[in-house]
Amino acid sequence: MSGKVILVGAGPGDPGLLTEKGHQALSQAQVVVFDRLVSPAILALIPPRAEAIDVGKESCHHPVPQEEINRILLEKALEGKRVVRLKGGDPFLFGRGGEELELLVEHGVPFEVVPGVTSALSVPAYGGIPVTHRDFCSSLHIVTGHARAGKELSIDFEALRRTGGTLVFLMSVSSLPKICRGLLDAGMEPEMPAAVVERGTLPQQRKVVSTLEHLAQDVEQAKIKSPAIIIVGKVCGLSDRFDWFDDLPLKGKTVVVTRPADRAGTLSAQLRQLGADVVDYPCIRTVARTPATELDRAIEGLSAYRWLVFTSPVGPGLFFERLRAAGKDSRALAGLRLAAIGPKTAEALEKFGLTADLVPATYDSDHLAQAMSGVEGPVLLCRASQGSPALPNIFEKNGVPFADVPCYDTVYENPDPAPVRALLAEPVLVTFTSASTVRGFVESLPGVDLSQVTGCCIGPATAAAAEKYGISVVISKEATMESLLECIKEV
Ligand code: SAH
Repeated sequence: MSGKVILVGAGPGDPGLLTEKGHQALSQAQVVVFDRLVSPAILALIPPRAEAIDVGKESCHHPVPQEEINRILLEKALEGKRVVRLKGGDPFLFGRGGEELELLVEHGVPFEVVPGVTSALSVPAYGGIPVTHRDFCSSLHIVTGHARAGKELSIDFEALRRTGGTLVFLMSVSSLPKICRGLLDAGMEPEMPAAVVERGTLPQQRKVVSTLEHLAQDVEQAKIKSPAIIIVGKVCGLSDRFDWFDDLPLKGKTVVVTRPADRAGTLSAQLRQLGADVVDYPCIRTVARTPATELDRAIEGLSAYRWLVFTSPVGPGLFFERLRAAGKDSRALAGLRLAAIGPKTAEALEKFGLTADLVPATYDSDHLAQAMSGVEGPVLLCRASQGSPALPNIFEKNGVPFADVPCYDTVYENPDPAPVRALLAEPVLVTFTSASTVRGFVESLPGVDLSQVTGCCIGPATAAAAEKYGISVVISKEATMESLLECIKEV
């Protein structure tokens, strides 16, 4: 059976600008063939089992020649694989998407195209430049400033000037002086506003706004490098007033997220939306216990308990999985009272049609224990092995019978420390959402100076764990992701 090639535009860099359809294609891919301009956060979405082939092109030298890329796509598809060809921006805008499809068509290999958000429009937008504006222009022209090997730049500058439209040049950093000269020689006003945006839509985005006459010099001074786009036109004059991206609260800050990879998604995405440079560095992972002997036994004797307690959002899902495996359903919980450590855990219970009877005002083990100090047992605790001793301590003290059932283990991930180690020479924020993330982080970086780290901690217990390692901390007001985000904004 023949496979299929899906040509996917990955967008300009901000992972939030990958389309829904592109994301879906990526998550179903068996082979992913990707370019240099695809950002690491998007490459992180490649399924672990998929074969990832880097055919990244450097300007001036092509590590994998185009014919070879075409051949790889064909070969993998003929093996019956579902191949995603992932390209920066939109695959058909200066992306050689057309060239890559030709060989597939010749061989009758099925393909699809998922357009992407092109840098030509989105990078100006992140630089506060609307590419058209009724007061200033009525057309937009997208031009490559890259000359084919051995050829001179062939741009009809006079024609471009006559349009009076906004001009966007891609692949042009090295030709910038020639482009500016060409437009000036064609009679464009030297005062025409012009801009260059480097690494647009990414946290490292830089922008130079100038005039046609001075742009080349200003860009050289700022040492702008590829990838960057050049915009020439009156709309560039709006870029200071419309500069929203550089004004985001976390712009210029680097935040390392140590949450488990399967749960980091939303925190990382929210931090990125606030402009932070997010480095995903999952230090721990929760793993369900298999066989779930203790939990299965507790479920068998469920009717003996008065309270059922969950201390993390993963608990209810695991509990119900075993409940179903035992041939029971939520009716088995009739008469049981339910406690959840915080709103996210309560939400996880809501998914099963159950409302928590008790959520402490402060979402941590100490406060849950206090809130439960007067309850009548027996109490069933469904939580991580090696959970906080606060709950068992209070039940023991008050003579409340309880069972502490380990449903999942926290395992240390040992992520590759190199990228994070390189960051620690400068001030950096690191999020800690449990004491185990602190331990996982510190142990993954033996002998490394942590004095530049500010630990953004979800509660006092987590903060205490970080301080033990000499990490300076800030603590969120509440033990929720929203509150942690607020706290990070204020650092
Ligand atoms: N198909 C892509 C363009 C490929 S050509 C698209 O639709 O965006 C590569 C050029 O795109 C680069 O030389 C640069 O000019 C521009 N480019 C791509 N990503 C960029 C980014 N994040 N910031 C600035 N320019 C970018």
